[in-house]
Amino acid sequence: MLLITCPWCGDRAEAEFSYGGEADIVRPLSSDDLTDREWGTYIFMRQNPRGKSHEMWLHAQGCRRWFKATRDTVTYKFDSFEKIGPTAHVQSDRRVDQE
Ligand SMILES: [Zn+2]
Repeated sequence: MLLITCPWCGDRAEAEFSYGGEADIVRPLSSDDLTDREWGTYIFMRQNPRGKSHEMWLHAQGCRRWFKATRDTVTYKFDSFEKIGPTAHVQSDRRVDQE
């Protein structure tokens, strides 16, 4: 069984998570100004790397929070997990303060 580390909940079974696709995809500021080709590129075109990949994951059957993970697509081994969102940095600081 593959374990995935939710940054908030810790190690959990893969079945609790949903894959959210490639991370760091930036939505165009003004989609009305894009051509159909540019919009299609934003919607459908992904890097699909062989090796290290930055991905979005949702802890769907747990805290229901999104986070970013770095995973090797060849070995399925996760390298790191990272909180995202406006409170990610604050919560990370709190954790350091509590230790
Ligand atoms: Zn969680």
